[in-house]
Amino acid sequence: MNKTLLSFALAVSVSAAAQAFPTKPITFVVPFAAGGPTDTVARQLAEAMRKHLDNATIVVDNAAGAGGTIGANKVARAAPDGHTLLVWHIGMAATPALYRKLPYKPLEDFEYLGIINDVPMTLVGKPQLPANTYRDFENYIRANQGKLNLGHAGLGSASHICGVMWQYAVKLDKSMATIAYRGTAPAMNDLIAGTIDVMCDQTTNTTQQIEAGRIKAFAVTTAKPLADHPLLKHYPTLQEMGLKDFNLTIWHGLYAPKGTPAPVLQKLNQALRAALQDPDFKKKQADLGAIVAGPRDPRVTPEGHKAFVAAEISKLKTVIDAAGQYAD
Ligand code: ASP
Repeated sequence: MNKTLLSFALAVSVSAAAQAFPTKPITFVVPFAAGGPTDTVARQLAEAMRKHLDNATIVVDNAAGAGGTIGANKVARAAPDGHTLLVWHIGMAATPALYRKLPYKPLEDFEYLGIINDVPMTLVGKPQLPANTYRDFENYIRANQGKLNLGHAGLGSASHICGVMWQYAVKLDKSMATIAYRGTAPAMNDLIAGTIDVMCDQTTNTTQQIEAGRIKAFAVTTAKPLADHPLLKHYPTLQEMGLKDFNLTIWHGLYAPKGTPAPVLQKLNQALRAALQDPDFKKKQADLGAIVAGPRDPRVTPEGHKAFVAAEISKLKTVIDAAGQYAD
């Protein structure tokens, strides 16, 4: 075959690969338990994205454990054909600092498909806590140091990072005992039951529980108040409560294994960007306090997503090194 014919044949087979994709159900690996915040984002996104992927079936695989790193490793090692994708949050950037031995390389072993959303966090407590305002809550925690515990979704999870940052910011003499779960969905059940005392979790998991009065909320972790949300606007930011510079927002992104063919990546990125414009998806996310990435957000392109995560890796390393807490 001459050179021109060969490149023509290659171009035809590449676009055929994109046209043929998907050829079987797509799996979204969620590295936390079902029913939690990352799971909720993944399931709502799957519903919105499948419309732009020939109505493909998208199944969610909750591969929980080790703060999300087990699920991430599963995708890093999966066949690079676009049928196994990872939905993960800020843990993608925090775990390189928290785990000195990671089984995969965040910037080398994945194809970056784009950022999905930004999700504020809330500092919440069991319903029996004798505090109704942030001030009373902080005083109560201070007065009961060594007696209370904090639930989280494993070392390196968002709830863990938030708990560490908050305790570091309020300068407790004795840190709270922490209890690790496979996700904040099971931790939330224990918080509602009063088995654990405190948690810091994404609004995608806490909003409905706060509204139903099953848990108490004391503050939000964003720099600015959540003025547009009918419920969350009633809670102060931690900065307003005197924790200077406290600002934590959890973002989620979509990833494929390294080596996934470019036309498949392009099709997935287009489907993701179309889903981010879906009014139903945007409304469901907004109701839970999440802000879906807009069309002009540079992070919705693969390059922009990767550059953002690289910057977050450096930023979080500084925060985690300052707190001096590592997972291994
Ligand atoms: N909210 C969890 C975290 O702390 C993750 C989850 O259960 O989705 O990272």
